[in-house]
Amino acid sequence: MRVARLHRYDTSLEGPEYLELEEIPDPTISEPDDVIIRIDGAGICRTDLHMIEGRFHDHIPARLPLTLGHENAGFVAAVGRGVQRFKLGDPVIVYPQVTDGTCLACRRGRDMYCENGEFLGLTRDGGFAEYLLTKERNLVRLPDGLSPRAVAPYAHAGLAAYYAVKRALRWLDPEDAVALIGGECLGQIALQLLQVLAPVRTIVIDRSERALQRAREFGATWTIQAGTEDDVVREVRQHTRGHGAAVVLDFVGEGSTPAQGLAMTRRGGAYFVVGYGGRLEVPTLELVTQEKSIIGNLVGTYAELTELVERISEGQMKGAVTYYPLAQVNHAVRDLRDGHVNGCAVVVP
Ligand SMILES: [Zn+2]
Ligand SMILES: [Zn+2]
Repeated sequence: MRVARLHRYDTSLEGPEYLELEEIPDPTISEPDDVIIRIDGAGICRTDLHMIEGRFHDHIPARLPLTLGHENAGFVAAVGRGVQRFKLGDPVIVYPQVTDGTCLACRRGRDMYCENGEFLGLTRDGGFAEYLLTKERNLVRLPDGLSPRAVAPYAHAGLAAYYAVKRALRWLDPEDAVALIGGECLGQIALQLLQVLAPVRTIVIDRSERALQRAREFGATWTIQAGTEDDVVREVRQHTRGHGAAVVLDFVGEGSTPAQGLAMTRRGGAYFVVGYGGRLEVPTLELVTQEKSIIGNLVGTYAELTELVERISEGQMKGAVTYYPLAQVNHAVRDLRDGHVNGCAVVVP
């Protein structure tokens, strides 16, 4: 089968080629709970950029070459003899963490903390390929009529947005303001979720006028064109009677956004780090006197992915998707690097 693999890191994302297209043998079933998915589409997000940069290397060592792709959706193509819940041809979206299901973290429903977890496209082969080998435990059935490739980004980007929004609810009172840094893919999804889940005002911040235009179409209360650091923080304060936002959801987490994000968080509010890669320096005095919380967010749980699929099937989510053939995966990486993707990006084999 055709795959796109990472052979070596490119620490500054210079390119022009990042992943190599090659032919490898199709995966085969070896354990009773194995499943093989015929990939319909695999989302590509900033985590793939960070993989290519080698930023995970010291935290989550990967064996290269590795097939990237952690936002997978498609159709069941083969099942092990122990698989009971799925049959050939079922449309599915794939939870990205492969878990053992038996450790204490798994039993508490904290799939992301699994003591023996593996992550598709990060520590084992992912879905920038025609076929993906995973486990029955990872699959969430999609309702008929929903295109797997159109929802593939929800396996991670959408799930991370949902997880953060759900956790943010306890910081929010009606009419509070939520600032969203980054208005494409995750930002669009989070904005729509906030409208369903919380009676709040929303402020979407992005460099791209296209992203801001779409945010307004989706009902954002205010949009801010990201310019200088001070201007953005000042504008957020202007919209919030000088206080700042009760919750800031940072889907970028790089460059100037961590400092900005914390600065625009109001007293008693919470700054949610969803995108990552940058650094945050903060005087502890500020945390104490302002009682600000800084919340890290790691993907979300399997159960939350099933909740999200429910919302998608009810037609609550309408984010934009840009498709790239597998042969143009490096083009997708460049567009992502340069901020040129409209909505979420999906690679189609
Ligand atoms: Zn992702
Ligand atoms: Zn576990």
